[in-house]
Amino acid sequence: MKIAVVGAGLAGLSAAIALKEYANVVVFEKESVGGLASSYCRGYCIEKFYHHCFRGDAALLEMIRKLGLSSKLIWKVAKIGYAIGGKIYPLNTPFEILRYPHMSLADKARLAIFTIRSRKRDYTKADNVGVVDGIRNELGERLLNNFFMPLLKAKFGESYSEVSYAWLLARVSIRSNRKYSGEELGYLRHGFHQLVERMRERVEIRSKAAKIEKSAGWVVNGERFDAVVYTAPLPLLDEKIRRAAGIPDVKYQSSVCALIGAKESVTEDLYWTNVDSCIFGAIIEHTHFMPFEDYGEHLIYLASYSSPSGWLFNAGSNELKRLYLKDVARFGLKGKDVNWIEIFKARYSGPIYEKGYLNKITPYKTALKGFYIAGMTSKPNYPERSMNGSIKAGMEVAEVIKSDLGLV
Ligand SMILES: Cc1cc2nc3c(=O)[nH]c(=O)nc-3n(C[C@H](O)[C@H](O)[C@H](O)COP(=O)(O)OP(=O)(O)OC[C@H]3O[C@@H](n4cnc5c(N)ncnc54)[C@H](O)[C@@H]3O)c2cc1C
Repeated sequence: MKIAVVGAGLAGLSAAIALKEYANVVVFEKESVGGLASSYCRGYCIEKFYHHCFRGDAALLEMIRKLGLSSKLIWKVAKIGYAIGGKIYPLNTPFEILRYPHMSLADKARLAIFTIRSRKRDYTKADNVGVVDGIRNELGERLLNNFFMPLLKAKFGESYSEVSYAWLLARVSIRSNRKYSGEELGYLRHGFHQLVERMRERVEIRSKAAKIEKSAGWVVNGERFDAVVYTAPLPLLDEKIRRAAGIPDVKYQSSVCALIGAKESVTEDLYWTNVDSCIFGAIIEHTHFMPFEDYGEHLIYLASYSSPSGWLFNAGSNELKRLYLKDVARFGLKGKDVNWIEIFKARYSGPIYEKGYLNKITPYKTALKGFYIAGMTSKPNYPERSMNGSIKAGMEVAEVIKSDLGLV
């Protein structure tokens, strides 16, 4: 039995590891093994896009354990803040939240009740309600404009208004279990590239799947397979196969991230600062989460989202470096303190959870015999695509294939 896995992101790698005991598995990868979770190395390795994990990420934590990396896992409360008009407000303790001047006490109370209630709500009923209308109707114009709108724009770029209210309710519900002092986040000390490396050692990887064809079974780059597991972004799938497989047309967003190595940090001690009115929507200071000594310099991400056709995604790297450095200088990071800056882009960095998205979540088994889908549009990746979601999707699709092909 021969199985082709298209894409060596975490979904593809975990599907391949789960299947290789039962079949001859070949993984095809077009760019970087690890996909969106791949790293940039320069004496040390750091993820191209900021990454952390959560206590509830069972599939990811189990993979880390199985690959002998548990001792590297560090849990810390990461401090967060909000920057408005260039001024940074820490928002971690109830006291800091109460002191925050850009929201009335009544709105703070309304937000707290909304957050607590969201845990018990059936969000699916709001899948056809737009996020802007949903917030306006339930929480009012002020909370919409002063609190949610900058966050939505930072998260979805210009596509924010297409997002469904169900997504917001589901997202608030999973993220609302915070401790008094903030939420604990996890990280593999010295980088998630160690996880990717250990996964890649266990599978056979070839270059891009340039051609996928249906014949008696499947043919990838001229080689015959009994089944294909497609884990790459859906817009890259041949349109004829997508339609025949009954896979919906999912809209994606793009990510643009500047990563800076610097002599100084931007905030005093915050890991994550949401920012209004800048080219980036968040400043993520990795070295306020992991020890500075691991890198010998501060590592700062400036994160933005765009549509694949948006100007931000399509702007040149030099122009972007200039614009990101200009905006971060408003927070005091001067040019002389910047050791280096890199721009990382991902055209398909996650689905837009638009109205009606719940019907677009892709089942593992498609209408085409022997053609399976797993990855960012699979169920474990709703309401937030994540390393955990993709590993879980990879493991789950492997179970479906094993049962379909009688491999158990
Ligand atoms: C900015 C950003 C921040 C993030 N932060 C976090 C975080 O803090 N915590 C967290 O858990 N998750 C985070 N994520 C999400 C996480 O990285 C992804 O959800 C996960 O890595 C996706 O894995 P995947 O295998 O499903 O998809 P991908 O990583 O997209 O893998 C798909 C792979 O398919 C390859 N491919 C495409 N076409 C072909 C082809 N024709 N042939 C062969 N290969 C092909 C691609 O090159 C890619 O490597 C973040 C993502 C981004 C963009």
